[in-house]
Amino acid sequence: MSRRELDSTSVETLRDWDRSHLWHPFANQAEWDRDDPVVIDRGDGVYLYDRLGNRYLDGVSSLWCNVHGHRRSELDRAIVEQLGSIAHSTLLGITHPTAIALAKRLVELAPEGLTRVFFSDDGATAVEVALKMAFQYWRQLESPEPKRTKFLALSNAYHGDTLGAVGVGGVERFHATFGPLLFPTLRAPAPFCYRCPLSLEHPKCAIACLNEVERSLSEHDGEVAAVVVEPLVQGAAGMIVHPPGYLGGIASLCKKYNVLLIADEVAVGFGRTGTLFACEAEGVSPDFLCLAKGLTGGYLPLAATLTTERVRGAFVGDEINPKTFYHGHTYSGNPLAAAVALANLDLFGSDETLDKLPAKIDRLGAGLEGLARLDHVGDVRRRGLIAGIELVLDKETKTPFSASDRIGARVCLVARRLGVLLRPLGDVIVIMPPLSIDLEQIDELVAVVSDSIIEITRPLL
Ligand SMILES: *Cc1c(COP(=O)(O)O)cnc(C)c1O
Repeated sequence: MSRRELDSTSVETLRDWDRSHLWHPFANQAEWDRDDPVVIDRGDGVYLYDRLGNRYLDGVSSLWCNVHGHRRSELDRAIVEQLGSIAHSTLLGITHPTAIALAKRLVELAPEGLTRVFFSDDGATAVEVALKMAFQYWRQLESPEPKRTKFLALSNAYHGDTLGAVGVGGVERFHATFGPLLFPTLRAPAPFCYRCPLSLEHPKCAIACLNEVERSLSEHDGEVAAVVVEPLVQGAAGMIVHPPGYLGGIASLCKKYNVLLIADEVAVGFGRTGTLFACEAEGVSPDFLCLAKGLTGGYLPLAATLTTERVRGAFVGDEINPKTFYHGHTYSGNPLAAAVALANLDLFGSDETLDKLPAKIDRLGAGLEGLARLDHVGDVRRRGLIAGIELVLDKETKTPFSASDRIGARVCLVARRLGVLLRPLGDVIVIMPPLSIDLEQIDELVAVVSDSIIEITRPLL
């Protein structure tokens, strides 16, 4: 089918074909069959346009990955220029300049000590790579520690949907079904201050949940290969913002118990929390840094797992024992994706993206202050340009709505009608716009979210 034919196909026909042949990720099939999905046709800056010409502000960065806006000429051009040489060539056995340049660039930008880049395609694979490397690392040391087979992760963690990543994940709703297939993982309570698992209060608690991490590491001393965390913000858990000092605390415990630290910055990397990488906020240099979503500015799938010379050194063998890391993906380090990733990083410089962030973060914060006073807004969690608004039935007791009320989904439907595309996490309304959003657009976003929450929750008073 030609582009012209596709462009002239009606919305109704497209929806019919969609319902007949597509299986959407995370979609309730029965609901999908009933609803009329928005058919997005094009984007421009922070806006998306559907087939009927309606405009929407992209309130969740097309699932947390768009950074500098849609249809950025610099990014479009990077792909076209790369197409002038080659679209794809493998990293298995041979190499190419674009992946080389991107690896070098990432190492220059990443926290100190991360000097090696392993490319894959998605956030989940970036995490799989880190888990498998960490596991193999301990078996290949000069004095091997083969008992280190366990991983420690946080409750409500989300690291992607392949089985290894699900193994360290802890979102019941997503992961419970696959329990019998997973390797056992040590679990520490998430530092979720609004609903503290230890029933304590921050900052009086002095981050007592770190003691739980230590207890687990000490109980399983010598058995843990790595600790896996989402630095600063646990995204899919409902935008759980960690208290300051938590990440640094985890890093110290990893050092104390000689355990590797895997920082999953798939969601928080590339400026979302205010610094290029979230780990910078607490001066943490992890043993593995997992990157994906924002790496290509939201243009193409590409992921990277960065690690240290210490780890890489354990994989340098000889003829008898090659110590090879037997892992790879066909499109690892794809040149088109790598080219747009390089241009994406250039835009951080030419747009002064990080310098402009504090004003935007303040504006979002100011906007959300009013919203926090609404009757059914239990908690507004915020870090950088990420916010989660938790809606509750009773603010006093923090009693949640019944899941069948689908409050979060209904608020987002209203927002859609009012011109903002959002996707909730249960009853948490997620705000995660492209970093290129301007101050007026932030006001527009907050106003629509506020109006939508009021429209759905006012009848409940
Ligand atoms: C989205 C996400 C992943 C998975 O990334 P995919 O590209 O969807 O596989 C992993 N970790 C975190 C923290 C994420 O937010």
